Amino acid sequence: MKKILILIFICFSIVLIYSYAISNDTFDKKREEMVRRDIEARGIKDRKVLNAMLKVKRHLFVDPSLIDKAYNDHPLPIGEGQTISQPYIVALMTESLELKGDERVLEIGTGSGYQAAILAEIVKEVYTIEINKKIYEMAFKRLKDLGYKNIKVKLGDGYQGWVEYAPFDAIMVTAAAKRIPPPLLEQLKEGGRLIIPLGDTLLYQHLTLIKKEKGKYIKKHICDVRFVPMTGEVQK
Ligand code: SAH
Repeated sequence: MKKILILIFICFSIVLIYSYAISNDTFDKKREEMVRRDIEARGIKDRKVLNAMLKVKRHLFVDPSLIDKAYNDHPLPIGEGQTISQPYIVALMTESLELKGDERVLEIGTGSGYQAAILAEIVKEVYTIEINKKIYEMAFKRLKDLGYKNIKVKLGDGYQGWVEYAPFDAIMVTAAAKRIPPPLLEQLKEGGRLIIPLGDTLLYQHLTLIKKEKGKYIKKHICDVRFVPMTGEVQK
């Protein structure tokens, strides 16, 4: 009887390991396809960005019920009325920051933690702020479980930036605001870059890149996008 039980246990373990390996393999293939079809083919060239998109498992950042949609090129709900961004937009925003690898980057709007993970694969340190407590707790645990040691997550209003760690080489805002929070511009290094969806309409916003050069801010319109609104101080 004992032998039979051991045999059943071994068989069960083999099936489990095998199906885990198969599903991982399927996700790897889907991720490679997504990067080729929705990111590289649409003009993203920076190898560091493409490699990060190939490496970070987006299916681990979405709700298990939506796992089959993780490698489609659109945003997905993450609870509390918020969303994980569309992969192409994540790649586009990351590429526009022209990162080399030794930077310290601030992100406003942690959400699922996916964008922070992409940045963390490329740069030295990532600081990310989330205003919603439930979302913050979820992202904090996920990024810790995934072993990201170069990401610091904080609960709070990103409007104020993160003074203790400023100035930053680059700042990315992943929620739509009708104006740029002045503390973020102040916390940007000379030569630094900030990207933010700007606009007060819920339908779309202008993805805007700002470069700080000799104390001046040079603005460039990248494309139109649709993000969830930035809440807190910026709405006052
Ligand atoms: N970057 C995320 C997606 C962002 S969704 C990802 O990769 O999944 C926008 C997030 O910004 C939401 O989680 C929302 O709660 C958060 N947010 C909105 N206003 C904020 C503010 N003032 N400060 C910090 N986070 C904010």
